[in-house]
Amino acid sequence: MNLDTIPSSTVRNPAIHPALTDALRAAVAAKTAAAQDFLAGAAAEFGEALTFANSLGAEDVVLTDMLSSARLPVEIFLLDTGRLPAETYALLAELETRYHTRFKLLFPEAAAVEAYVRAHGINAFYESAALRRACCRVRKLEPLQRALAGKKAWITGLRAAQSPTRDGLAQRETDTAHGLVKLNPLADWSETEVWTYIRLHDVPCNALHERFYPSIGCAPCTRAISLGEDLRAGRWWWEAPESKECGLHDKNLRNKAVADDGSHET
Ligand code: SF4
Repeated sequence: MNLDTIPSSTVRNPAIHPALTDALRAAVAAKTAAAQDFLAGAAAEFGEALTFANSLGAEDVVLTDMLSSARLPVEIFLLDTGRLPAETYALLAELETRYHTRFKLLFPEAAAVEAYVRAHGINAFYESAALRRACCRVRKLEPLQRALAGKKAWITGLRAAQSPTRDGLAQRETDTAHGLVKLNPLADWSETEVWTYIRLHDVPCNALHERFYPSIGCAPCTRAISLGEDLRAGRWWWEAPESKECGLHDKNLRNKAVADDGSHET
């Protein structure tokens, strides 16, 4: 990674300002109608047993807007790891104001965070993949288990084109790791289509996107990407592309994490 190739903060990020051509508007309108039908069907099928894991990424603000504009009674939850960027908290507050709602926030267990930091250090995730996964397990996976408890299905903003680890993603999957149905309404959307929706509907988004952060997680584990890099290249950039999941959406890594410490995170 050559830091000199990261665009300057004064350069407008073209990826998030697509030219809103008639063809693109029509394509996004058709996909929007299909996604809203999909969400309405999911809400009818699962009722209160459906929840939406909102990470406040570009795809997730699109889904938030779709659910809110259709007044679908779907619970929206967020995992606050305690290490999120200030820009993400600002967006959270902005979305709550816009949609007149309070999202359900889940925090890590304080004792587990304290034990991890005491044993390994505040930034131990840089030291090894095992310690990185252990941090994600404490700050994300355990709260996710609580969020999904008692649910039958969950909605995510995953897209197939986001990374090699998400290739072949379907709109509806069986999430064997959690014993749930996993719904990915935007599985076949492109990045350009996501941003077209955001611009057409004036949806609030994370200020870091303008600074070349297409995928935003915890502050110490996210950086800007260079032009032409994979969209998730800025997440855990010190690790191999094939391992770039936090465990929320990759059962192979979950199994690896279980093997690492003998615990059962899912
Ligand atoms: S993304 Fe980084 S800081 Fe956040 S939980 Fe995972 S390892 Fe920890």
